[in-house]
Amino acid sequence: MRYAAILIVLLFVVVVYWLFSRRHKRAGSPKTATASNVISMDRHRKAKQSSTEQLCSSCKKRNGKLIFYAQDNGSVVGLCKDCKTKAQKKDMLPL
Ligand SMILES: [Zn+2]
Repeated sequence: MRYAAILIVLLFVVVVYWLFSRRHKRAGSPKTATASNVISMDRHRKAKQSSTEQLCSSCKKRNGKLIFYAQDNGSVVGLCKDCKTKAQKKDMLPL
């Protein structure tokens, strides 16, 4: 009986060790995969931003995403976040 008990304990230890080593392997490989994914997504996002970014109608700079406003004469202007405050002071309507 004693030998059986020792054998069971040994088996248990081996199984636990095996599970731990497997978990380590599993946690290790997807990490590197997600890390490379993050880099590629960042690159993708950067490339997308630079291509779609438009010039601000007021300061003529590429200053991030533009917010479009309707002017009193009916024309539409795209303003960056810096010029947004100026537009709000002029009571321009955001589109
Ligand atoms: Zn601007």
